Amino acid sequence: MQLTSMRSWLPNAPQGKSPILISGPCSAESRKQVLASCKGVAEQGAHMLRAGIWKPRTRPGSFEGVGEVGLPWLIEAGKATGLPTCCEVAKAEHVAAALRAGVDVLWIGARTSVNPFAVQEVADALQGVDVPVMVKNPVNPDLPLWIGALERLYKAGIDKLAAIHRGFSVSNAAPYRNLPIWYLPIDLRRELPDLTLINDPSHIAGRRSLLLQVAQKALDLDFDGWMIESHIDPEVALSDAAQQVTPNGLRNLLDSLVYRTAQSEDPEFKANLEALRYDIDNIDQQLFDLLSQRMEVAREIGKYKQANNVQILQMDRWRHIFATRSRQARAGGLNDRFAEQVLQALHEESIQQQTHMMTPEKAPNGRAQ
Ligand code: PEP
Ligand code: MN
Repeated sequence: MQLTSMRSWLPNAPQGKSPILISGPCSAESRKQVLASCKGVAEQGAHMLRAGIWKPRTRPGSFEGVGEVGLPWLIEAGKATGLPTCCEVAKAEHVAAALRAGVDVLWIGARTSVNPFAVQEVADALQGVDVPVMVKNPVNPDLPLWIGALERLYKAGIDKLAAIHRGFSVSNAAPYRNLPIWYLPIDLRRELPDLTLINDPSHIAGRRSLLLQVAQKALDLDFDGWMIESHIDPEVALSDAAQQVTPNGLRNLLDSLVYRTAQSEDPEFKANLEALRYDIDNIDQQLFDLLSQRMEVAREIGKYKQANNVQILQMDRWRHIFATRSRQARAGGLNDRFAEQVLQALHEESIQQQTHMMTPEKAPNGRAQ
């Protein structure tokens, strides 16, 4: 994909490494609320205004957006502030209404990017239309699905694409509303280096107190900017009340961030960094040597179990490993979730190796693969 960066298609985007800020309310609720919220975020330096017109809610009966009547409010806010506008589209009908009203940029929400039929419907509606589109990550952590959504739009002729990282819906996302799984947007960037990457701290955090931590991390991970929900009076917001900030809250957030440089030319810094990286390289080498030794022993055990006709999974042993190693990891200052992931990966691979050894896969003709 040959993509055009948001810094070139968004007329007032900051240049260089300065982060792009997209802000505005979760939902358009009334003309007054949209205008006040949008003027407020414009005063705090937003580069593009957002407002949800049609809201994909988890359960029926929640506020599902005002619909098409909200579009002129957003357009009016754009004119009043001189800023481009964007809104979410999930169907061909939304695309037609948003374009008719004059919305500048569209985005595909997380509950839509998960569904190839819906993404294709939007892409078909955009065939031959020159409008930028931002694609939120699908609700589940599936990188090819995210890339697939971008590809469907690219095939419809849209090269002004951006990705929005809004976190993933998993069973235990605490303390977040949606688990960030930072390596996924980083992998996306590795696959598509020209793609503009925007972070959405609002939907990851789910509450105001966590916004700063998420927005800072995105900055440190070289994201191009943020989409942050801001409402003139969050307490009475009809959707996502707990995560929206007032325009003043937005200013506080921006002022609390630490802006770091991408590189340092200081020779002492460079020499120290190199020495530390040398240590990391050595430790990684030792880690992988140990891992192969561990797998060798696991295979040995597999052979022994096979000779004695004993099954692979020994739940008591696994419980014991899990408990003791988690304690050791905690004592070493390692994070519980990280320790759990490492242990699970180790155990899965051991089982895999033993399974492979005990039951070589058979091709349909009965020969071993
Ligand atoms: C939104 O941005 O208001 C929204 C509905 O977000 P998401 O698609 O990330 O849930
Ligand atoms: Mn929202």
